[in-house]
Amino acid sequence: MLKTVAAFDRIGEENAFAVLARATQLASAGRDIINLGIGQPDFRTPDFIVEAAVKALRDGHHGYTPAVGILPLREAVAADLGKRFAVKVSPDEIMIMPGGKPTMYMAVLMFGEPGADILYPDPGFPIYRSMIEYTGARPIPVPIREENGFAFSAEETLKLITPQTRLIILNSPANPTGGVTPKAEVDKLVAGLERHPDVAVMSDEIYDHMLYDGETHVCLLSYPSIRDRLILLNGWSKTYAMTGWRLGYAVWPGKLYDYARKLAVNLYSCVNAATQYAGLAALTGPQDECAKMVAEFDRRRQVVVAGLNKLPGMSCATPKGAFYAFPNVKRTGWKSKPLANALLDESGVALIGGPDFGILGEGYLRVSYANSTENILKALDRMGEFLTSRKAA
Ligand code: PLP
Repeated sequence: MLKTVAAFDRIGEENAFAVLARATQLASAGRDIINLGIGQPDFRTPDFIVEAAVKALRDGHHGYTPAVGILPLREAVAADLGKRFAVKVSPDEIMIMPGGKPTMYMAVLMFGEPGADILYPDPGFPIYRSMIEYTGARPIPVPIREENGFAFSAEETLKLITPQTRLIILNSPANPTGGVTPKAEVDKLVAGLERHPDVAVMSDEIYDHMLYDGETHVCLLSYPSIRDRLILLNGWSKTYAMTGWRLGYAVWPGKLYDYARKLAVNLYSCVNAATQYAGLAALTGPQDECAKMVAEFDRRRQVVVAGLNKLPGMSCATPKGAFYAFPNVKRTGWKSKPLANALLDESGVALIGGPDFGILGEGYLRVSYANSTENILKALDRMGEFLTSRKAA
């Protein structure tokens, strides 16, 4: 018997990938499947970004780059953050990462160990908890409540801090709820954190461009009092429809930058060079395609929310960000996961059960509206037929 490290048995997963695999399997067996399960834009990466990568390859950018990323790209990220949020960030604080996930992986690795507590949102992106458990730290869920517009509560978060707390993970706009935390609540949280100078913060802002109803993004970098312990996670995956390219960036404070650089050297050396040139084109080129995608998501959001609210037993708050709706299904009589499974098997609609995002996700489904309006309407019809004809299992 191979004797492996016990921590590996504690690593979790993202069920969205399992649902995608099952949906693909059913589709290849001839079933007509509508996928509202996966969290990626259904658009192509804009052509000028693709062309920049092709050009980089033709120009001979075939070798390693610095582990922290090419300087022009780090400068472009710094300029973009400066322009959008009026914050001063040096390119030397910015590290180019192979996607958004590696930043959470590294950040949790830096603070998680037995005896440490790490706070994370529930319901929230499942990888946070998975990584916390891997390190042996104690995962402390911060409840994200429907009655609070799926924003986090500063008061509730601050109350959970103990002398063991090392790291707090924040995410707004949020997956899976689409919730956006208002500035006043962030102000309150940061004011409270000033009493806890030993607690680090990782702010996952990967959906920062996807805001609706006039919301503006509150970037945690704009709070000087926590800048020396703030890790910012962001990237290109969602904003520029680049999930498959694997490109993200992080802002690391103080010595954490060097820790992250060394982890990169040990793990992957650097991000794919051509991809970095694509990311540079994305940030410095025209932004209208990105704005068009957000406008399209906004239209679909209205269709999906109106449709879900008409289904028997469902009610859906209007999400203000990302591309997810998180309808409450408690009055249908179904538990979330059996409902999601039955909708896929019997009606050909792929969605994710709320409990895949934490215990407090029970009673909800995650509906990704990264699909055409036509498909969304078809899926809503099928869900309506299912709920009127089928008794809860
Ligand atoms: N953070 C959140 C909240 C996400 O929803 C996702 C992807 O679904 C990520 C991070 C990971 O992004 P990436 O695909 O760039 O690793």
